[in-house]
Amino acid sequence: MKTSYGACTIDMVYDSRIIDIDEGFTRMLGYTMDDLRRSSITYRSLIVQDKNDESFKALTDNTVNNGMACAEHFIRRKNDSVIAVSCFGRNRGDGKLDIMITEDRKEWNAGGGGFDRLTGLYNYTAASAEIERLLKNGSREYNSCILIRLREVEKMDELYGSAFAGAIIENTAMYINHHYMNKQVKAVPCRLSRDTFLVFQFGRVPSEVERVALWVINELEKGYFGRRKDVEIGFSLGICHMELGDTDFKTATYNAGKALEYACANNAVIEVYDESAGKQYTDYGDNHLLIEPTEKDERIFGYDNRFVSFAVAMLSSTKDPESSLDVLLQRIAWKYHFLSALVCWFENTHYVRVTNRFERGKGIVVGEEEFADMNDWDNFMRSFDSNGISRIDDTNADYLSESDKEFFRVRGIGSAINFLLYDNGKPAGYASYCWNEPGGELDKESLSTLIQLSKIIEALLSQSIRHEEEEKRVNELSKDFVTGLYVLPAFHAEARRMLKDYDESKAYAVVHMDIDNFSYINTNYGRETGDTLLKMYSDIINEECGNRGIGCHIESDKFVCMLVRDTKAEIEEAVKLMYEKFHRLRPKKHAVSNLRSTSGIYFIEKDNLDLKDALYNANLVWRAAKNDRFAAYRIYDDEFRREREHRLNIIGSVRGAIENGEIEAFLQPKFSMNDMSVVGAEALCRWRNPDGRYKFPDQFIPILEEEGQIVDVDFCIFEQVLKALKSWEENGRKMIPVSVNFSRAHINKGNFAEKIIAMTKQYGIDPKYIEIEITESSISRNNNRMLCYMNELRENGFKLDMDDFGTGMSSLNMLIEAPIDVVKVDKSFIDKYENPIYRDYINGIGNLIITAQKEIIFEGVETQEQINFLTENGYENAQGYVFSRPIPLGDFEERYIYND
Ligand code: C2E
Ligand code: MG
Ligand code: MG
Repeated sequence: MKTSYGACTIDMVYDSRIIDIDEGFTRMLGYTMDDLRRSSITYRSLIVQDKNDESFKALTDNTVNNGMACAEHFIRRKNDSVIAVSCFGRNRGDGKLDIMITEDRKEWNAGGGGFDRLTGLYNYTAASAEIERLLKNGSREYNSCILIRLREVEKMDELYGSAFAGAIIENTAMYINHHYMNKQVKAVPCRLSRDTFLVFQFGRVPSEVERVALWVINELEKGYFGRRKDVEIGFSLGICHMELGDTDFKTATYNAGKALEYACANNAVIEVYDESAGKQYTDYGDNHLLIEPTEKDERIFGYDNRFVSFAVAMLSSTKDPESSLDVLLQRIAWKYHFLSALVCWFENTHYVRVTNRFERGKGIVVGEEEFADMNDWDNFMRSFDSNGISRIDDTNADYLSESDKEFFRVRGIGSAINFLLYDNGKPAGYASYCWNEPGGELDKESLSTLIQLSKIIEALLSQSIRHEEEEKRVNELSKDFVTGLYVLPAFHAEARRMLKDYDESKAYAVVHMDIDNFSYINTNYGRETGDTLLKMYSDIINEECGNRGIGCHIESDKFVCMLVRDTKAEIEEAVKLMYEKFHRLRPKKHAVSNLRSTSGIYFIEKDNLDLKDALYNANLVWRAAKNDRFAAYRIYDDEFRREREHRLNIIGSVRGAIENGEIEAFLQPKFSMNDMSVVGAEALCRWRNPDGRYKFPDQFIPILEEEGQIVDVDFCIFEQVLKALKSWEENGRKMIPVSVNFSRAHINKGNFAEKIIAMTKQYGIDPKYIEIEITESSISRNNNRMLCYMNELRENGFKLDMDDFGTGMSSLNMLIEAPIDVVKVDKSFIDKYENPIYRDYINGIGNLIITAQKEIIFEGVETQEQINFLTENGYENAQGYVFSRPIPLGDFEERYIYND
């Protein structure tokens, strides 16, 4: 029972044209404001089968004349289906009327006799005739017989009274009717017994029939859960699919009944009848009609059954209990001609707080909270009788205190009746209905109806009222202004609510998303385009969430959503779809091309329903996807789990590894190809495992770079280099410059130039023996900061190398302007020297570097042919496996330093 009410404003000056609507209206009827504007639909035109506009006039004329009025009629939805509604009009002046619409029990489709009087559905006799008629026309289709049973009705009777149970049954019927009687579905629903419904469905394949039936009962259950966990409202399904061509639906019904009994006995949600499965279905003998058709009128309970149903339906719509209660009070006031209707809660003894109030002439009073100090508390409590009812027949009576009399006089109250509301067995508040004359009276039926309503109000609202403050806050702040998606706190609340009803048979996922290069778009195309883009992306997210998920705008271009689908694959599909839709977008006027988004998907499993964990993990996997330039999304799966473990292992152990000397500097010599002499070396780090083998940089450097810990590693290597140089010097050996790699992560970690300078001084090394390698990409990316540090180092006598040149996409100006001495041409170039185009390219680059007056060295030279090519073209320096791999410092010293 999703939303059961909505509101619109109509303009009587323009033949009841609808000029404003709320979300509920759209949800209920399908029209958006755009639809209405485009076709200038009037309220009158929405009403169907209204002879001489009687109902329309009753509503509008009375509203205009009396300020308020109500009416009931049928309204046509956008999708052409028809629903029954109750309406309340309120005059706003200027010919404008506010109309609040609540959905009613459905009676439309009532084409002929044979209806169950409680629910308005067919009874079995009428349904049989209809099914037979339809079977004759379409017997070559798949047909199925579905039985739906509301479980534990007796217990409900016991706990909440038969009115409540009756209301639940009635609402169940309404929902079944609503779902199976729309245009797309060919089905005959009917009520078989107090708690069991039959739906005969035509022309759908078995799997779909089952899926939809499960979905229907799931929706039904959702309607009532959440408020009181002890109201265990559950359903069971018994289904029998008929053979193609079979027309014996009575046997099918009988078999579906067997299946239903089987499901109930085994506490299962669904059982599909299968003769061949060898199951022990209970045999019902010759009694073909399993369940007796109901003919008796269950409305003879002494109260207004329909009104009670309405209350249950409305209050069990989960979204906004506060407003539902308001509407209910309004309806009560109108129905029983009260001056006012209100609900109060005891804050503590002697203190009463009015939480909901409807007053004739004022309407629903909100935001005007009223506290009352009850002077005569004990007397007040004593005035309630054993039914929890207290009456004040005359508010001017002698037994009332002067201040009480004053209280009633000011409000124009002549008499009143109060119904005590309980919470956990203790009085917690009361509902109060007032007349303006003394001596207000209720007949017996009205009185018992109000008693039932009090029960419903207390049963369904006691908790949410207590959480009122929180709810209010969340509601106020729940939607983001630009995107219309939830903001984070509201998303948390809503997602938690969804997880409370976690259904193991479904797949749940939290998806973290962002827009690639959003800041670029924002700066280059302007904020407005940025906002448009956010809105477009939000719309896509919203669309995909639909009623099976919720979306949230975290900040700037960051989004998160929770999706619920039948399978994980469907969720993955949904994420893919969002990516594709976004990719196809072209914000008008601005040629933003190649829009991309990145997502991280985390599936929530039943062993961990913690939302925080889910959000955290979705964020992690999103970050991983982000680092992979080609991934549109990534799933938190076993592979990712392993990666993550590895990652945590690295991050967690690097400190210790540095302290224990497990991070070792290997040196790779740099050669002059003219005379094959060693002209320098590069220090490269290795991480020694306990087994003596080594981890290579690609296994840990990217991870440490992200976490910033690479900084410590770099200095650790640097220190080893300083120590080595020192010892060479002290031993009077030939000094060769050694280059050390410094990550871009240093940019964000204080002044690393200062530290390098200080350490070099500390070891008393001449900076000319040290080269600082910075990759091309870290120079171009955050050029200002990095360039400053580089200048500082260079001014202090250090040499600077631009590493991996050719892969960083820096502008060519950089080559001339950046404070560098040596350019290290990336391995990928020499790798392709055999390709004539690359030969020219290499030479082109070489010339450029020489023109820029930088030294040049080729990395990754592996063959003699490559050496030949380079020397033939006049290049001197190179580094690569053909000369030597990186080797442990000790080996290097032995081979190149102490080699004489
Ligand atoms: P890089 O600075 O460009 O270092 C050159 C890489 O190429 C080294 O890989 C080296 O072993 C490899 N190499 C040299 N000659 C050849 C060859 O002929 N063939 C092939 N296939 N490879 C060759 P390594 O030691 O695995 O290091 C990889 C990268 O990790 C380095 O690239 C550097 O960016 C980073 N790295 C290594 N040590 C450190 C360090 O201490 N600090 C920082 N920040 N990064 C480091
Ligand atoms: Mg390097
Ligand atoms: Mg390199």
